[in-house]
Amino acid sequence: MALRKIVLKNDEILRKRCKPVEKFDEKLGILLDDMAETMYKANGVGLAGPQIGVLRRIAVIDVGEGLLELINPEIIKSKGTQRDVEGCLSCPNEWGYVVRPNEIVVKGQDRTGKHIQLKLKDFFARAVCHELDHLDGKLFIDIADEMVDPNDLKE
Ligand code: ZN
Repeated sequence: MALRKIVLKNDEILRKRCKPVEKFDEKLGILLDDMAETMYKANGVGLAGPQIGVLRRIAVIDVGEGLLELINPEIIKSKGTQRDVEGCLSCPNEWGYVVRPNEIVVKGQDRTGKHIQLKLKDFFARAVCHELDHLDGKLFIDIADEMVDPNDLKE
Protein backbone atom coordinates (compact mmCIF):
# COMPACT_ATOMS: atom_id res chain seq x y z
CA MET A 1 0.00 0.00 0.00
CA ALA A 2 1.08 3.54 -0.53
CA LEU A 3 0.01 6.96 0.57
CA ARG A 4 -1.35 9.19 -2.17
CA LYS A 5 -1.11 12.95 -2.23
CA ILE A 6 -4.37 14.71 -1.38
CA VAL A 7 -5.36 17.37 -3.89
CA LEU A 8 -6.35 20.72 -2.37
CA LYS A 9 -9.36 22.87 -3.12
CA ASN A 10 -8.01 25.21 -5.76
CA ASP A 11 -6.98 22.34 -8.01
CA GLU A 12 -9.17 22.09 -11.10
CA ILE A 13 -9.22 18.32 -10.88
CA LEU A 14 -11.70 18.61 -8.00
CA ARG A 15 -14.13 20.33 -10.36
CA LYS A 16 -14.33 17.60 -12.96
CA ARG A 17 -17.00 14.96 -13.36
CA CYS A 18 -15.67 11.44 -12.85
CA LYS A 19 -16.11 8.55 -15.25
CA PRO A 20 -17.48 5.18 -14.15
CA VAL A 21 -15.13 2.36 -13.22
CA GLU A 22 -15.29 -0.33 -15.89
CA LYS A 23 -12.45 -2.65 -14.97
CA PHE A 24 -12.57 -4.46 -11.66
CA ASP A 25 -8.98 -5.64 -11.68
CA GLU A 26 -5.98 -5.81 -9.40
CA LYS A 27 -5.15 -2.19 -10.15
CA LEU A 28 -8.51 -1.12 -8.73
CA GLY A 29 -7.80 -3.12 -5.56
CA ILE A 30 -4.46 -1.37 -5.12
CA LEU A 31 -6.09 2.02 -5.68
CA LEU A 32 -8.75 1.27 -3.04
CA ASP A 33 -6.11 0.09 -0.55
CA ASP A 34 -4.11 3.27 -1.14
CA MET A 35 -7.20 5.42 -0.73
CA ALA A 36 -8.09 3.79 2.60
CA GLU A 37 -4.53 4.17 3.87
CA THR A 38 -4.42 7.82 2.78
CA MET A 39 -7.80 8.53 4.41
CA TYR A 40 -6.85 6.91 7.75
CA LYS A 41 -3.45 8.61 7.82
CA ALA A 42 -5.14 11.99 7.33
CA ASN A 43 -7.76 11.19 10.02
CA GLY A 44 -10.55 11.56 7.49
CA VAL A 45 -13.89 9.75 7.36
CA GLY A 46 -14.06 9.67 3.58
CA LEU A 47 -12.00 10.11 0.44
CA ALA A 48 -13.10 10.24 -3.19
CA GLY A 49 -11.12 9.54 -6.37
CA PRO A 50 -10.60 13.15 -7.48
CA GLN A 51 -9.06 13.98 -4.11
CA ILE A 52 -6.04 11.88 -5.08
CA GLY A 53 -6.20 12.92 -8.72
CA VAL A 54 -8.13 9.90 -10.02
CA LEU A 55 -11.21 10.90 -12.05
CA ARG A 56 -13.17 7.72 -11.48
CA ARG A 57 -16.42 7.12 -9.59
CA ILE A 58 -14.86 5.63 -6.51
CA ALA A 59 -14.85 6.49 -2.79
CA VAL A 60 -13.88 5.05 0.57
CA ILE A 61 -15.73 5.90 3.77
CA ASP A 62 -15.27 4.96 7.42
CA VAL A 63 -17.38 6.78 9.97
CA GLY A 64 -16.39 4.30 12.68
CA GLU A 65 -18.53 1.44 11.44
CA GLY A 66 -15.89 -0.22 9.27
CA LEU A 67 -14.50 0.55 5.86
CA LEU A 68 -16.98 0.97 3.03
CA GLU A 69 -15.70 0.95 -0.54
CA LEU A 70 -18.13 2.40 -3.05
CA ILE A 71 -17.65 2.07 -6.78
CA ASN A 72 -20.01 3.71 -9.26
CA PRO A 73 -22.31 4.76 -6.40
CA GLU A 74 -25.69 6.33 -6.90
CA ILE A 75 -28.24 7.53 -4.37
CA ILE A 76 -31.55 6.00 -5.34
CA LYS A 77 -33.68 7.17 -2.41
CA SER A 78 -33.40 9.88 0.19
CA LYS A 79 -35.58 10.91 3.10
CA GLY A 80 -35.67 13.77 5.59
CA THR A 81 -33.03 16.40 6.21
CA GLN A 82 -30.21 16.99 8.66
CA ARG A 83 -28.00 20.07 9.08
CA ASP A 84 -24.55 19.73 10.62
CA VAL A 85 -20.92 20.77 10.31
CA GLU A 86 -18.74 19.26 7.60
CA GLY A 87 -15.11 19.45 6.70
CA CYS A 88 -13.07 17.98 3.86
CA LEU A 89 -9.52 16.67 3.50
CA SER A 90 -9.19 18.87 0.40
CA CYS A 91 -10.23 22.00 2.32
CA PRO A 92 -8.03 21.98 5.44
CA ASN A 93 -9.27 24.10 8.35
CA GLU A 94 -12.57 24.95 6.72
CA TRP A 95 -15.83 23.93 8.33
CA GLY A 96 -19.38 24.72 7.49
CA TYR A 97 -23.00 23.72 7.97
CA VAL A 98 -24.48 21.65 5.18
CA VAL A 99 -28.03 20.35 4.82
CA ARG A 100 -28.12 16.70 3.73
CA PRO A 101 -30.77 13.98 3.58
CA ASN A 102 -31.14 12.16 6.88
CA GLU A 103 -31.56 8.75 5.28
CA ILE A 104 -30.41 7.44 1.95
CA VAL A 105 -30.38 4.26 -0.05
CA VAL A 106 -27.18 4.04 -2.07
CA LYS A 107 -26.43 1.47 -4.70
CA GLY A 108 -23.08 0.72 -6.28
CA GLN A 109 -20.47 -1.98 -6.67
CA ASP A 110 -17.76 -3.47 -4.52
CA ARG A 111 -14.15 -4.03 -5.61
CA THR A 112 -15.08 -7.26 -7.36
CA GLY A 113 -17.85 -5.62 -9.36
CA LYS A 114 -20.62 -7.16 -7.29
CA HIS A 115 -23.69 -4.93 -7.00
CA ILE A 116 -24.45 -3.68 -3.51
CA GLN A 117 -27.23 -1.64 -1.96
CA LEU A 118 -27.19 -0.04 1.47
CA LYS A 119 -29.61 1.92 3.61
CA LEU A 120 -27.75 4.52 5.67
CA LYS A 121 -28.67 7.33 8.01
CA ASP A 122 -27.35 10.20 10.11
CA PHE A 123 -23.61 10.83 9.87
CA PHE A 124 -22.99 7.81 7.62
CA ALA A 125 -25.54 9.16 5.11
CA ARG A 126 -23.93 12.60 5.31
CA ALA A 127 -20.46 11.19 4.61
CA VAL A 128 -21.70 9.25 1.57
CA CYS A 129 -23.48 12.34 0.17
CA HIS A 130 -20.30 14.39 0.65
CA GLU A 131 -18.13 11.84 -1.18
CA LEU A 132 -20.65 11.42 -4.01
CA ASP A 133 -20.60 15.18 -4.57
CA HIS A 134 -16.84 14.93 -5.18
CA LEU A 135 -17.53 12.54 -8.06
CA ASP A 136 -19.50 15.31 -9.76
CA GLY A 137 -16.94 18.03 -9.09
CA LYS A 138 -18.78 19.54 -6.12
CA LEU A 139 -17.29 20.60 -2.79
CA PHE A 140 -19.12 21.13 0.50
CA ILE A 141 -17.99 24.76 0.54
CA ASP A 142 -20.21 25.32 -2.52
CA ILE A 143 -23.35 24.33 -0.64
CA ALA A 144 -22.54 25.19 2.98
CA ASP A 145 -25.13 27.67 4.25
CA GLU A 146 -22.84 28.98 6.99
CA MET A 147 -19.10 28.67 7.46
CA VAL A 148 -17.76 28.14 10.97
CA ASP A 149 -14.71 29.61 12.64
CA PRO A 150 -12.55 26.58 13.61
CA ASN A 151 -11.86 28.20 16.98
CA ASP A 152 -15.55 28.03 17.82
CA LEU A 153 -15.56 24.24 17.38
CA LYS A 154 -12.88 23.65 20.02
CA GLU A 155 -14.96 24.81 22.98
ZN1 ZN B 1 -14.43 16.10 0.77
